[in-house]
Amino acid sequence: MREQIRNNWDIALRLSDLSAGTAIVAKCGRCARSRALNRPLLVKRYGPDARLFRLEQTLRCTRCGSKAAGRIELHDAPRN
Ligand SMILES: [Zn+2]
Repeated sequence: MREQIRNNWDIALRLSDLSAGTAIVAKCGRCARSRALNRPLLVKRYGPDARLFRLEQTLRCTRCGSKAAGRIELHDAPRN
């Protein structure tokens, strides 16, 4: 089974709503760079009730520097 990628999650979704196996991946719409975000760090910085769409607005690409094209994808690992 492959992991499932969600890129059209609910706008009301919060960090605390995600299951432990879900990876938060930031993807740049301009240069297509993607990287997994450090979830404990996000919780520490923005709080467990921070909404994902707010975090998306804070993203900045580390390769091309774009701030407008950042998207968050959720990668759900398959359960074994
Ligand atoms: Zn980029």
